[in-house]
Amino acid sequence: MSYPETVLLHINGRWKPAASGKTLPVLNPASEAVLGQLAHAGIADLDEALAAAEAGFAIWSRTPVFERYKLMRKAAELLRVRADKIAGLMTSEQGKPLAEAKMETLSAADLIDWFAEEGRRSYGRVIPARFAGVAQIAVKEPVGPVAAFTPWNFPLNQVVRKLSAALATGCSIIIKGPEETPASPAELVRAFVDAGVPAGVVNLVYGVPAEISSYLIPHPTIKKISFTGSTAVGKQLAAVAGQHMKRATMELGGHSPVIVMPDADVQRTAKLMAASKFRNAGQVCVSPTRFLVDQGVYDEFVETFATAAKAVKVGDGLAEGTTMGPLISERRIEAVSALVQDAVQSGAELKTGGKRIGNSGYFFEPTVLSRVPKTARIMNEEPFGPVALMVPVSSLDEAIEEANRLNYGLAAYAFTRSADSAARISNGLRSGMVSINHLGLALPEVPFGGINDSGYGTEGGADALEPYLNTKFVTHLQAE
Ligand code: NAD
Repeated sequence: MSYPETVLLHINGRWKPAASGKTLPVLNPASEAVLGQLAHAGIADLDEALAAAEAGFAIWSRTPVFERYKLMRKAAELLRVRADKIAGLMTSEQGKPLAEAKMETLSAADLIDWFAEEGRRSYGRVIPARFAGVAQIAVKEPVGPVAAFTPWNFPLNQVVRKLSAALATGCSIIIKGPEETPASPAELVRAFVDAGVPAGVVNLVYGVPAEISSYLIPHPTIKKISFTGSTAVGKQLAAVAGQHMKRATMELGGHSPVIVMPDADVQRTAKLMAASKFRNAGQVCVSPTRFLVDQGVYDEFVETFATAAKAVKVGDGLAEGTTMGPLISERRIEAVSALVQDAVQSGAELKTGGKRIGNSGYFFEPTVLSRVPKTARIMNEEPFGPVALMVPVSSLDEAIEEANRLNYGLAAYAFTRSADSAARISNGLRSGMVSINHLGLALPEVPFGGINDSGYGTEGGADALEPYLNTKFVTHLQAE
């Protein structure tokens, strides 16, 4: 699939340019070449999308759940059939290796299937009454039109969880997609449109993020918001949502600790975690970041990890053999470089990497920093790039204390063969997700979300439908 000349908005069942005709260029992060243009929504487009979402909600909320389920399953099938083409678009606009883009597309299809099934189980309750002849029931109803704001790191995956939860429960949605990577999420929406979703149920806009969120969140049509992105922006949007009494789900940043105990399989753990660290060039909210390694195995772990980092093949995600693509933008190169320089100035030892590669495309070396002081900025701010921070620890207590030092709490990892240590870790870590001895996060059927500065609400598993539902209590005196 060649890149579209202009990625269009999708409003009220139609693909259309912005009312003003305004467009923005979309860049290939591997070459900095312009791939195409992106329609740039203004207030007139947003008003049209809001009216469409209102009308779409009236239709979709009354569509029987079994019909909704069948349509969603059809969209998932279309996504699978089109996966190669969609992955090509994603790699050219986002940079990740083609195999990762294809895996993301196929797992988006699995997520749709799972949410479609789970929507059929949005059960209410019958509550035994105190008085004869009274029926008491709690029913689940869709909250209404949803506004979703999604980032560029997983162009499909970040949209599909919000979109699927909304559709499975009978809500309509306006998606503010990622301006950096617009064509692949547009194909996700196209799969639903081609599957037959009624006009107005799914709307897609792009533009200036702050302009769009500040208009949509307070708007009376919107009943719920969901945002994935940085903690700083999440706090701003959550404040606006609070002011207007809108329900909110916030999936924000993280600074994931990885505890490596002396009884772990050091070689296997170092190789597994290096592959995980450099996936999507580290631009992953659950990316392993602070490696808290027992001092008895520290040198072996760091050397094995650094060797794996040096073997990563950085390049254009479309090229054969590439295992890590570029960062998304010049801005990210500057941010990651500044954090690495600050760490080295603070006393960290640079084991490998540390700088930009070449001067065309946003490539950055897989980087390993050893003995990083806690005072370095990178030990406190999310690097969101291909940088691993190694810290020796002398006990499990010290590791847990360091893991809990930051106010983030998204994902945490630990490796140990001791059942006792595993129990102390799972009880002691303040984190939304804990994965012990393997990488077990982000499947459709398991919870996905953080606590504290990493946000609130879950976007996976049965709990993910609840934020899109209101509970209505009905009590009915049927006979005396
Ligand atoms: P950024 O803070 O400018 O933007 C992050 C995301 O928020 C983008 O998708 C952007 O479009 C959106 N955004 C920004 N201001 C907004 C607003 N007022 N209203 C609605 N949406 C808004 O940062 P960036 O340089 O694009 O990305 C880097 C940072 O973003 C990272 O440090 C990371 O913490 C965070 N991020 C997190 C995730 C995640 O999966 N949790 C994904 C992408 C980015």
